[in-house]
Parts: sequence; C-alpha cells; structure tokens
Amino acid sequence: MLLNLFRRRRLPSRISYRLWQRVANRILARFGLSPTERVRLRSLASRFLDRKTINGAGGFVVTDEIRVAIAAQACLLILYLGIEYFDGWVEVIVYPDTFVTSRDVREDTGLVHTRETALGGEAWLRGPVILAWRDVAVGMLRSGTNVVLHEFAHKIDMLNGVANGMPPLHADMASEQWSQTLSASYENLSRAVANRVWTDIDPYAAENPAEFFAVMSETFFERPEILYRYDAALYQQLSQFYRQDPRTRRESFSWFG
Ligand SMILES: [Zn+2]
Repeated sequence: MLLNLFRRRRLPSRISYRLWQRVANRILARFGLSPTERVRLRSLASRFLDRKTINGAGGFVVTDEIRVAIAAQACLLILYLGIEYFDGWVEVIVYPDTFVTSRDVREDTGLVHTRETALGGEAWLRGPVILAWRDVAVGMLRSGTNVVLHEFAHKIDMLNGVANGMPPLHADMASEQWSQTLSASYENLSRAVANRVWTDIDPYAAENPAEFFAVMSETFFERPEILYRYDAALYQQLSQFYRQDPRTRRESFSWFG
C-alpha cells in the first residue's frame, strides 16, 4: 500500500547537474547570480520544463541543451516571482531562423492588405511563445538584446488578459506610480525617437506600451547600469516588480571577483 502511494506520486524531473553546468556556465555568467540564486534558477527551470513543451518547427531539432538554455533565461524573469507567472499556456515553438508572419492589415481607407514581417520572436496571448534559434543564440553570446527575456516578459505582461505594459502588480506597489513612471518614460523615449535623438535604449521600445515593457525588461536584466542611468525611477519600478536588483547584484559580484 505504502509502496503504491510512493509509486503513484510523480516526482518532478530535475535538470541533471552536468547539463545545467554546461549550459548555465555559458549563458548565466554575465548576470552575476549568486550560488544560491543559481540553485533556485535550476529548480525553477526544471519545473518550467515539466510544465511546458518546447517543439521545433521548420525542420529545427530541439536538443536538451536548447531546452535548458531557453528555460534558464525565461526563468531569470521569475526568479523571485514564481512559476505561476507563466501559467495559462504550454507551448514554446522554435524555428531555426527568423520566421515570416503574414497578417491582414486594414488601412484607414478600409483597404485590407496582407503584411509580411520577419520576426525573431513572438508571444501569443494565451498561446505559444515562438522563438528563432538564431536570434536566441546571438543573444546568448553578447549582452544587450535577449529575445527570450523579451518574449517571456510579454507573457508576464499578458497575465491580466492584455499586453499593455501593465502586468499584475504586487500588493506593496502603487499602480498609479507604475503608470505615471512608465507613461512619462515612454513619452520621453517616443519624443526622442520621433526627433531622431539617439538614446541608449532600443528605439523599438517606442512602438507601443507593450513593447516598451518588454524592451525595458530586457534592458533591466541585460544592461541594468545603462537602464538605471537612463531612467532611475523606471529602474526602481521594474526592480520592485521583478523583486530583483541586477545592478547591485553585478556590483557585489565583481567586488568579490
Ligand atoms: Zn515584442
């Protein structure tokens, strides 16, 4: 009887230490995680892989290394939030290279035409996250852009049913402060982009509030010093939301060598 109970209970699978080390050493070094945070991330990434399916498309073969690389980067966003922040959908689709989507676009005149766009990543509301492996691989080699952080940040933003740069905030955060800080920053960037003034921020963030949140989340983890210098108030809001401070984490990490 007892044996049956034990048998029936499904234990979560765990990413093997060797595989984790191989992948994590390559992609996590620049994020300056402490040993405790790495353990936490490995456990979250294991739970992520238990809950999600990662499928190749366009002839792409998804290896264990690729699954772990995607899970590790995605879970960096939820390191202090929890796996439930990725609830409500199950699939990640990986193409070898940029993929083309075609959408019907209705113009003001009423004319509808099909627009084709080449994408490196896409996140669907209550649907899959789609990634181009080439873009993921480029992001892993150098700090700056990170399509995994970007697309999974969209997923977190969509938790309240719409992608609008307003994820469900924590009880200890003031939604007015969030709205005011992000709106002001978005307007400043939009003005700079419209006037062709160069900033440290990817101008794609000025596309709409959802892209603003995704690009700023990406910058928060990839280039925290730059984001802090660009807009400290925005950095503080993101830091409160993600419950992380990558800037000081990196400082203390370099301090200890
Ligand atoms: Zn986006």
